[in-house]
Amino acid sequence: MKLISPIIALIILCCHPPVWAQRDFSGSEITKLVLLGTGNPNPSPEQSGCALALVVNDTPYIIDFGPGLIRRSARLTPRYGGEIEGLETSRLKTAFLTHLHSDHTTGYPDLILTPWVMGRDEPLQVYGPEGIGSMTEHILMAYQEDIRYRVYGDEPANNQGWRVNWHEIEHEGEIYRDSNVVVEAFPVIHGSWPNAWGFRFTTPDRVIVISGDCKPSPKVIEYGAGADILVHEVYSQAGFETKSEEWKAYHRMHHTSTLELAEIARRTNPGKLVLYHILFWGSSEAELLEEIQSGYKGNVFVGEDLDIF
Ligand SMILES: [Zn+2]
Ligand SMILES: [Zn+2]
Repeated sequence: MKLISPIIALIILCCHPPVWAQRDFSGSEITKLVLLGTGNPNPSPEQSGCALALVVNDTPYIIDFGPGLIRRSARLTPRYGGEIEGLETSRLKTAFLTHLHSDHTTGYPDLILTPWVMGRDEPLQVYGPEGIGSMTEHILMAYQEDIRYRVYGDEPANNQGWRVNWHEIEHEGEIYRDSNVVVEAFPVIHGSWPNAWGFRFTTPDRVIVISGDCKPSPKVIEYGAGADILVHEVYSQAGFETKSEEWKAYHRMHHTSTLELAEIARRTNPGKLVLYHILFWGSSEAELLEEIQSGYKGNVFVGEDLDIF
């Protein structure tokens, strides 16, 4: 047997990617909020598509369906070396959508189909804005051949798990309740998008408020007041300054700068402020943090994919 020389062995060791270290800030055995993807439309390899998972008593609730969400959530399951059994793919049965923008929905077919392929044997329950019904029916139509073949071909697939019971959010306030969680929806301002929502989740031991995509919105301040965790979208002010006037106008109307978020945080005073849907535009995490901390002295976390809060 030929032995590898010590020098080559050293090179192999040095080039091997570092073992990924789980960051867990949750401090609760009951409620865990997982950042599945902290990204936006830019296909950053470091930021999967925008998606969150709330796991309460090992029951998962998905919020937004950015690309990559199923594989990111699988990463935290025992099957792939993680510790959150509730995120087993076949257990993903309940989901909430803030708005229909593609960076929040291109993972939707994956959320409908992959948990079914992995054994989910009941319909997915989805709560989302007006239009989620039409989007759902079109996705199911697009995949009808796959569904037909799995159900009626040789594969032992069940005939329930591919189905979706969709529920369109028609009013502000409570939209969902079970023994783990109460979910309230509130309208946010996302340019002239007519139907963008944020959510407030109340679990047995946490209140978690999620902004969705928005510019500074009065309802975020109303529902976010005193939350244990406020998860808010953000862009770098320094990065913003480098944009064209056209893009500046767009982002000003649709999203929230670090300086604006500092003001929101001062008014809501959350236990933890967690940044997601982050537009760095060349700024580092430290610079982003510095921008916010220039106007807010509380606990701020620059969210990274797979962080647990
Ligand atoms: Zn978005
Ligand atoms: Zn959006």
